[in-house]
Amino acid sequence: VYSSADRDQKHVLLADESVCIGPPPASKSYLNMAAIIAAAEVTGANAIHPGYGFMSENADFADSVVRSGFTFIGPKAETIRLMGDKTAAIEAMQSAGVPCVPGSNGVLNPQDPKSWHAIAARIGYPVLVKAAAGGGGRGMHVIRSKTELERNIGLAQQEAAAAFGNDAVFLEKYLETPRHIEIQVLADEHGNAIHLAERDCSMQRRNQKVLEEAPAPGITPEQRAKIGALCVKACEDVGYVGAGTFEFLYENGAFHFIEMNTRIQVEHPVTELITGVDLVKEQLLIASGQPLRYSQDDIRIQGHAIECRINAEDPLRFTPSPGEITKFHAPGGPGVRVDSHIYRGYHVPPHYDSMIGKLICHGESRDSAMARMRTALSELVVEGVKTNRELHLRILNDPDFVAGGAHIHHLESRLHEWTRQAG
Ligand code: ADP
Repeated sequence: VYSSADRDQKHVLLADESVCIGPPPASKSYLNMAAIIAAAEVTGANAIHPGYGFMSENADFADSVVRSGFTFIGPKAETIRLMGDKTAAIEAMQSAGVPCVPGSNGVLNPQDPKSWHAIAARIGYPVLVKAAAGGGGRGMHVIRSKTELERNIGLAQQEAAAAFGNDAVFLEKYLETPRHIEIQVLADEHGNAIHLAERDCSMQRRNQKVLEEAPAPGITPEQRAKIGALCVKACEDVGYVGAGTFEFLYENGAFHFIEMNTRIQVEHPVTELITGVDLVKEQLLIASGQPLRYSQDDIRIQGHAIECRINAEDPLRFTPSPGEITKFHAPGGPGVRVDSHIYRGYHVPPHYDSMIGKLICHGESRDSAMARMRTALSELVVEGVKTNRELHLRILNDPDFVAGGAHIHHLESRLHEWTRQAG
């Protein structure tokens, strides 16, 4: 399915059958449940894959897909709903023995600011106020002392009400310099679950991932096996079905769960390249009712993989750069994968996310994956729109990134320097 803005997308041109579900604004097309389900009906489809975009974590959508007689390629609606409520998700994880960030254990009582002070004092400043229904970093504020507490919680409540129609907020210890490390899982409807090791997604700007890699530098096989087994146990406990990701902050050698993504993620190719498992294929097999084809022992890590998200944007100012692609050359060769819908003559629409492709490189070591990525980036040609290729080259030549294990604020601090130098 596509909106009229995406009529010329490569996947639309290649598909045997495609259905336009509405005009460019997402609210009228990609968020229009009735139009999507009608498209499944008229084409005689039997299942709907929500991708990683608009509908992928929408429990109401999963519900209506199933009620309309189709298979939803993802977990059960009730699991999506549970994980979409962050405090409920944390509670479920705590019962499964998954380590979490110390916090308020549930939402704050909006009538009782005194109790907020007691909770914050117990956790210890700095604390972070978060929206229970949160997403995209909205409604989140760092609070460094008790004088800022009530005002910041009030702000977070207002933002949460505006963004999610739900003003429930909770508190968590604010970790100053953690890494973002996440565990990929697959689970079938017969109660089998496995993990496929971790990804390091610490290279972020405004809480958005820019570059990801797998495995995470410095994580030992013992650490991986231990945290992976806890995620598998949590999948079994909540009856998880499909592909999913447990997101953790990692600091001082300890993992702290922050949330679960109940969908395939943008960065899944790095896991595919180090494990040889086609995650989307497994999603389809799981949705068709088959038992998992892999046991935990079948999952072996081979080498190292890095993904650069290629966005149509100014590399240092980050303003979107829609327009026509006048020239495109994709790099290739062993260990180089390009996942993209663009081609020469394609118009990058102004309506959606600015990602126009993903460049993923695999090597037998982290060094060789980085070397391959530098070469691939220098061979990549995209003209007509600006891209963030230059930013990725800077990251791949940054000594702290090259050393491995940089924290989630590292890229932003480098960006300050780079933009200052660039004037
Ligand atoms: P959202 O669902 O809004 O994206 P997350 O809970 O996934 O919110 O958090 C988004 C990002 O915010 C994380 O990747 C991390 O960079 C930062 N973050 C979240 N919780 C904490 C915390 N307790 N301490 C420090 N940083 C945090």
